[in-house]
Amino acid sequence: MELGKKWIGAHVSAAGGVDNAPHNAKNIGANAFALFTKNQRQWKARPLEDAVIASFRERCKELGFVGKQILPHNSYLINPGHPEKEGIGKSRAALLDEMQRCEQLGIPQLNIHPGSHLRKISETECLARIAESVNRVLDQTKGVTVVLENTAGQGSNLGNRFEHLAEIINQVEDKDRIGFCIDTCHAHAAGYDLCSPEAYQQTMEEANRVIGMQWLRGMHLNDAKTELGSRVDRHAPLGKGTMGEEPFRQIMNDERLNEIPMILETTDPEIWADEIAWLRSLV
Ligand SMILES: [Zn+2]
Ligand SMILES: [Zn+2]
Repeated sequence: MELGKKWIGAHVSAAGGVDNAPHNAKNIGANAFALFTKNQRQWKARPLEDAVIASFRERCKELGFVGKQILPHNSYLINPGHPEKEGIGKSRAALLDEMQRCEQLGIPQLNIHPGSHLRKISETECLARIAESVNRVLDQTKGVTVVLENTAGQGSNLGNRFEHLAEIINQVEDKDRIGFCIDTCHAHAAGYDLCSPEAYQQTMEEANRVIGMQWLRGMHLNDAKTELGSRVDRHAPLGKGTMGEEPFRQIMNDERLNEIPMILETTDPEIWADEIAWLRSLV
């Protein structure tokens, strides 16, 4: 089957069951998608039922989605760098559960937010804790890669600097199952300029120099409501925010970004189909 080189989709709803996500993606013309494999605002979730797992796998096959085109997002509650015993224990257990869900669904990767030090431990200590969390869940699962998402650097969140992601990757033992994802809005908020052809190339070269593009496993395509370097994370529809159209034109013509899921997390699901069609028109 011809998958195309640019895999574009959105973070679609899994309401009513994860097996509804593939159709929701197909309906907007996507050839990639993201989803939550459980309610993202609750710690506990019922295990996935065998029938739902089978149905998810069948529908992906029927609609032409392969595992590599799917990039699930972890729960917002999880903090793999939590400074305290109870918090880190809960986070590691929940992260393991999400990795196991991916395993069950045949999805080879999970996008996670690196973590926050909550101003109780140093950045260095927090990064080591995050790497330790990743090592633990990788030890207990097979075939699922942890994908570290860059952040806007709000509050005490780490991951806003490429150096943070590089340091975590450096401390992860299984180098085949670690990678990173660039969220364009987060990059912009963190002070990485993507808004002109020159700035775009510079930022991508910096990502390559500091982390290495061989680790890139996905992109989140979002415009921003806030200014460059604001460290405030507010997504906007593509071309309608402070970033404009140029970053997305660059991305769609960047061969380094072939065959990785590129996921819209923009604010208006009603126009996702139009945003995807517009992105394709830029190639
Ligand atoms: Zn995210
Ligand atoms: Zn994102």
